[in-house]
Amino acid sequence: MNSRKNRKWAVRLFACLLAATAAGPAIAAGEVARVLIVSDPGARDGGGTTPVLRRILEETGAFEVRVCEVPKAVTMGLLSGFDLVIDNAPGSLAGDDVVAALLEFAESGKGLIVTHAALEASPRSVEFLEVEVAKPDHPITAGLPARFKVADAPAHLTLDHRDEILLAAPGRESVLTVSKQGEGRVIRIALGHDAAALQEATLIRTFARAAQWAATGKVTLPEDGQSRKAKVRPIRGLVITGGHFHEAAFFQLFAGMPELGYLPVEPIDAAKSDLRGKYDVLILYDFTREPDDAMKKNLRDFVEAGKGVVVLHHALLDFQRWDWWCNEVVGGSYRLSSEGGKPSSAVKDAQDFYLTPKEGHPITAGLEPFHLVDEAYRRMRFSDKITPLLTTDNPASDPCVAWVGPGPSYRVAAIQLGHGQTAFRHPSYRTLVHNAILWAAGRTK
Ligand SMILES: [Zn+2]
Repeated sequence: MNSRKNRKWAVRLFACLLAATAAGPAIAAGEVARVLIVSDPGARDGGGTTPVLRRILEETGAFEVRVCEVPKAVTMGLLSGFDLVIDNAPGSLAGDDVVAALLEFAESGKGLIVTHAALEASPRSVEFLEVEVAKPDHPITAGLPARFKVADAPAHLTLDHRDEILLAAPGRESVLTVSKQGEGRVIRIALGHDAAALQEATLIRTFARAAQWAATGKVTLPEDGQSRKAKVRPIRGLVITGGHFHEAAFFQLFAGMPELGYLPVEPIDAAKSDLRGKYDVLILYDFTREPDDAMKKNLRDFVEAGKGVVVLHHALLDFQRWDWWCNEVVGGSYRLSSEGGKPSSAVKDAQDFYLTPKEGHPITAGLEPFHLVDEAYRRMRFSDKITPLLTTDNPASDPCVAWVGPGPSYRVAAIQLGHGQTAFRHPSYRTLVHNAILWAAGRTK
């Protein structure tokens, strides 16, 4: 069925005379281009590539991406709000009306990318291919390496005299072509047969640059792969775990936080060396009873240097006998034993939390009241100098479940919630943790 679609593209793109329509205004350079990916998640071809293509584009900061998962639903009306359409659905799913709408869209001055999934599949299996830049002076390819290697099963591209070949591979005339269609720009990419093939760095950059050229007629994305967002220095964070059970899904909490470039995970022993020059923020998710003197000195130096600390869930049990840490730095701690007439703290799993964020703090920015099932801590010891950020009325929990620590010059945030997956995948919890990291690292005031 794919070959039918490919023939259709070949015929439609290069032989069919569609009435020329008025050129749509090209978006200004620097603006965010609006992209629609037409996909069919159930299709054998292309189904797994849509999320990857979407991420590649979004990570540049130059695109706003929507996905249409019902190819038959594509009409000119649906397309009118976009600068670029990426046809990533096998041809059998759409039909003539959809192809006509996509071409009319391109003719009106917009961009169209036809991906591997929408082209004719090659019967050949995955092979290592040396891809060559055939036209290095095109805006898409300018500055890219002259050749790069991929592991891919390229689709078949039927060429026409109007095609400019930008990328070629041995045994194949072309694996990426560009052409004008009326006032618009059409790109066909035979590479990227599955999600794995779309991990190659040069192909990723080429795809993003091709999308920008198709959408705007220009390329401003850097050829070295640095996204706009990445030009800001990434936050140097260190996650500290160990000493307490936790789910592997905890680490998913940090996926989708573009400010955290490289995020190592270490046990508390990392604090045996000076942390100030290495990290902007420590994210504690460990349980350590007694830090040694070297750790104490380095943690104190870190906090007093104005570096950030985010204390999550069972890390509120850390350093039970270090008063400065418990009272002055974190300002709230779970007590394992009764002391001076004060009872020990208590834990209760699987509680319904109805949570109310305090307005006006960067850590609660964008948060509405939300519901979360998580573990509750009760009878914790709090300093009266903390700044509460999130409260609950669940009687199994203390009322305050997220706060900023007492030290006016410290950047310490604590979040009592975060036992398991119900928290890690909750968008509001994720926002809370993300905001806390940004604030602790000094990125928000
Ligand atoms: Zn827990």
